[in-house]
Amino acid sequence: MSPFEEVKSKVVAAVRQLTHDGYLSTTGGNLSVRVPGQNALAITPSNFDYLKMTPADICVLQFDLNPLEEPHKPSVESAMHAAIYQARGDVNAVIHTHQVYPSTLAIINAPIPALFDEQVRFLGRSVEIIPYAPSGTPMLKNNIARHVKNHHNAFMMANHGALLLGHNLERAMHNVALLEKCALAYLLSLCAEKKASKVPLWVREVAFAKLRKDQQKVERGDFETGGE
Ligand SMILES: [Zn+2]
Repeated sequence: MSPFEEVKSKVVAAVRQLTHDGYLSTTGGNLSVRVPGQNALAITPSNFDYLKMTPADICVLQFDLNPLEEPHKPSVESAMHAAIYQARGDVNAVIHTHQVYPSTLAIINAPIPALFDEQVRFLGRSVEIIPYAPSGTPMLKNNIARHVKNHHNAFMMANHGALLLGHNLERAMHNVALLEKCALAYLLSLCAEKKASKVPLWVREVAFAKLRKDQQKVERGDFETGGE
């Protein structure tokens, strides 16, 4: 049996759930988790139907992309995932989706301001848009590695999709759903052509300080819960 069986099973369970919930479809997007205690990640294979995926199909790569287990070609965004884990010691799961509402806001270049306190608490002060670069290129990887240093956990990728980070896989999955809600609400407010109100600045700062505190705890290795 693979020494990575547990993390690979987690990846498969997550992609099934996200496919069931409509956030992933067929082969679009990709998902990874950090292998505990190693400079390595378990990631979905490239161009492989999520509903047919089993733990034996999941790739395990070191952060320099050297394969530890490579039953298939790994996701073309593997370098992007590895760069995020290297830039952010608090991140243990990364989900890239092509979910519709954040993708729409990214097309019209509309970053999401602080609309809800739970948004700031888990996603960050705002949801920024990462400039376009073609999939799987060093340019995209470098754009993303630069942006994630702002400690936010949600991003929209211009003309592409969304990117969600979490201190564990459950939180990253919750962040997928939270971003979808925020993106839909903001898109509807833009369609209504009314000014969208934001949470007060002090609420934004208090909520973001809580997220930063969690991240610092994860980096110190003493935080395992799924948050509030
Ligand atoms: Zn993609």
